[in-house]
This record gives sequence, C-alpha cells and structure tokens, in this order.
Amino acid sequence: MLHLSTTAEQRLVDRLGRVHSNLRISVTDRCNIRCFYCMPEEVVFRPRGEILTFEEIERFVRVAATLGVKKLRLTGGEPLVRKDLPGLVKRLAAIPGIEDLALTTNGLLLAEQAEALKKAGLHRVNVSLDTLSEDTFQQISRRSGLQQVLDGIFAAQQAGFENLRLNAIAIRGLTENEIVPLAKFANRHALQLRFIEFMPLDADGNWKQEDTLTGAVIRQLLEDEFGPLQLADRPDPSQPALDYRFANGSGGIGFINPVSEPFCESCNRLRLTAEGQIRNCLFSITEWDARKVLRGNGSDDSLRQLIRDCVAAKKPAHGIGEEDFEKPARAMYEIGG
Ligand code: SF4
Repeated sequence: MLHLSTTAEQRLVDRLGRVHSNLRISVTDRCNIRCFYCMPEEVVFRPRGEILTFEEIERFVRVAATLGVKKLRLTGGEPLVRKDLPGLVKRLAAIPGIEDLALTTNGLLLAEQAEALKKAGLHRVNVSLDTLSEDTFQQISRRSGLQQVLDGIFAAQQAGFENLRLNAIAIRGLTENEIVPLAKFANRHALQLRFIEFMPLDADGNWKQEDTLTGAVIRQLLEDEFGPLQLADRPDPSQPALDYRFANGSGGIGFINPVSEPFCESCNRLRLTAEGQIRNCLFSITEWDARKVLRGNGSDDSLRQLIRDCVAAKKPAHGIGEEDFEKPARAMYEIGG
C-alpha cells in the first residue's frame, strides 16, 4: 500500500464540510440475476463500448487518489460477471493512496473467484443475502442460485477474507421471517450481517414508504429473540451502518437505515457509474461526464476539476419523503448501490 499525502486544499470538501474519501465504482450494469428491488425482469444492457475500460477506471482512480480518495468499493450490476475482475483489483490495489479495496457481490460467482481476488489484493467482501429460503430467493431474484451464494460465502472465508459482511435488504411483507434465521446463520458462521432498508431505486418504480421494514422494527425482532444487542465500535464515523455484537461475540448485526434514519450529514461517498458518470449521491439527479474527459484527451487537471465540481454541487441529503423528492432516472443496477 503506497502512501500519498494529500493537503487540506486538495481534499474533496463540500459545502457542508463533508470530506469525500470513499469512491464506489460500478464496473458493469450487467448481472446474472434480476432482483426486483434493483432491476427489471427484461433489461437492455449498455453496449460494451460505452463501459469504461480497466485502463480508464485505473486512470480515474489515480487522479481521484490525488484528491484524497482512499477507499474503493467495486460494485455493478454484478461485478464478478466482468471478465478478469482480479486484473482490475490488482491495478487498483497498486495505486498510491488507496488504503482499502472492497467488493459487493451477489455471491453466485464468488466460489470460483475468491482465491484470485484475494491474491490480487482485495481486502474486503460484502455478499448480498436476503434470505435462506430458495423459494424466497427466487421470489426476490427471479432466478435460482441460493446454494451457489452460500458456497461463495464459505469459499471467501476459506480464501482468508475476514469479517465477511452480508447485506440483507429488508422488505415488509416478504422478509420478516428471514430476519432471525439470517441472524442465527451469521452468528453461527462469524459473519457481519447488515440489514439495509428498501430504498426507492427499484427499476419498476413500485417502491412505497410503507414497504420499508425499518431498522428499529428489525432490531426489536432480534432483541425479542437474542436479548439486548451490544453496540459495537464505530471505527469509521462516516460508515452508514450502526453495528452491534452478539452476546457470544461471534459475528455481528448492523443496520443501514437510509429511509428512517438518514446518515447524509456524515456522507463521504462518491460514485462512478459503469459508463463513466460521476454521481455525488446515490439519489443525485445530475451527473458529471468523466468518460468525455477520459476519451477526449482531457488532462488529469480537467478530471480533477470535474470531480471537484461534482462535490461542490452535492445536496445536504437524499430528501426521500420530502415533497420535492425526485426519484433518479437510474435504477440501482445502473448506479451500483
Ligand atoms: S443518500 Fe446520498 S448523501 Fe445520503 S448518505 Fe447516501 S449517498 Fe450520501
């Protein structure tokens, strides 16, 4: 890990003083399943020529690192469907200033790629797991594959990924019965399970506030089962999750409550879409075209200025539930979560 000192002037600070050091990179809009809270059943993916190459992603990150970006998360669609992802991991892990490199995956291809990703320099893995029932898995993802996901989780632990995290989307009327079994699974296998509230980024636009199973309701269900949860340390004040420990110390539970308890005041995240648009928020309506600079012989300085402009325009919060809230035109699979 090569150190890169960044002066205060160089850092990406917005109007609220939030320092942006965390970049989420969508490496593809493609996926091998069709979760209804993320993408439509029938989908037309972007032509490959529109998607950033590994060289372009590497250049963008190299420039962003000079502005204080230290943490990267690879997302999609499903990042593991992108050919030779360990090759990209190797490039990004070698960039001066990058201190943390993580991946969010649906786990279906993880068993076959875990070793190579670890060797390439990946630090952390989050696996999406909303249920332990094959029927509910198919109801949500409109495909089969639960056993592959479980195999992927164990293969990643085998490959040496510690503190493996599970991301579970909580949806009222569908996943209430999954909460305690998932928690017991996490406890049994020393996994960090995080429940994420269902957000208005589904492709079909069916999201309603009342469909969101809030963190408070989930926590009550868990405390009814396990007794009081103990608050865990919070090493990163900008992390969206509130984490708790199980009494027996094996694994943990976390809550990411963007709808009922927004955490925008400490947000440090930027996003790069698969086709090279910079977003200053998951719910931003405006984007900044980095691909135009990358493919238009633009200089590193003009790329830096573009990133700065994006941060400078960041709104205080997502505004879900407010009168003027505007749902982004993009669905989750086109942003990368
Ligand atoms: S909704 Fe936007 S501002 Fe709020 S935490 Fe998420 S990315 Fe940050």
